[in-house]
Amino acid sequence: PLKIKEGSVEFRDVSFSYNSDRAILSNISFYVSPGKTLALVGPSGSGKSTIIRLLFRFYDVSGGSILIDNQDIKTVQQVSLRKAIGVVPQDTVLFNNTIKFNINYGRVSAPDGDIILAAKNADIHESIMNFPEAYNTQVGERGLKLSGGEKQRVAIARTLLKSPTIVLLDEATSALDTQTERNIQAALAKVCSNRTTIIVAHRLSTIIHADEILVLKEGLIVERGR
Ligand code: ATP
Ligand code: MG
Repeated sequence: PLKIKEGSVEFRDVSFSYNSDRAILSNISFYVSPGKTLALVGPSGSGKSTIIRLLFRFYDVSGGSILIDNQDIKTVQQVSLRKAIGVVPQDTVLFNNTIKFNINYGRVSAPDGDIILAAKNADIHESIMNFPEAYNTQVGERGLKLSGGEKQRVAIARTLLKSPTIVLLDEATSALDTQTERNIQAALAKVCSNRTTIIVAHRLSTIIHADEILVLKEGLIVERGR
């Protein structure tokens, strides 16, 4: 089985539709060098999250191909692909379990020190320490409700702990206060550094740091640049 090492990402003339009637993406081509950041912007429904889903192989392309390290992702074992890629989704759904379990997701069990370090880097450690049972606090239906910003930082901590070669970030659209936004920006900067990053960006502060920006409209790239 082929392995992912460098983490370059290429879309080669990709088209896609969820159900054959309507094209959602048409002729999408871009290349991201290892360690660089690509930002995707555009109106709601333009296909940004779909690009993220295709890269993680939730769906297969209808036309064209997606390559990582010059290998078509169809030839890469699903488990290698998902090990190499970390995803911070648009709306993080937490498991009905402890904070610790949620940061650990996808791993058997990381040492406590690693979990705490990831949480610190994601700027969520202090909030966790204020919860009734700290890292053993139950979240979700049975326990404490976390705010959107806190949930996203838990997802960032999970991704930092996983330490993938490629990071896919689907920035939350929800309004955040200035301090929370600053905390999340700092956490994102840590998760992106030295990793190939594709980020669906809604905030100017995120877009500024990208190496390339693609503007999507109705499934087409209508503008690109910095
Ligand atoms: P937003 O900024 O609101 O998150 P987006 O650019 O991420 O929007 P996508 O989620 O990629 O948009 O959706 C692109 C188009 O595909 C939309 O028209 C949407 O209705 C459609 N779509 C998304 N998911 C599905 C699905 N599972 N089945 C059918 N159509 C879908
Ligand atoms: Mg989206």
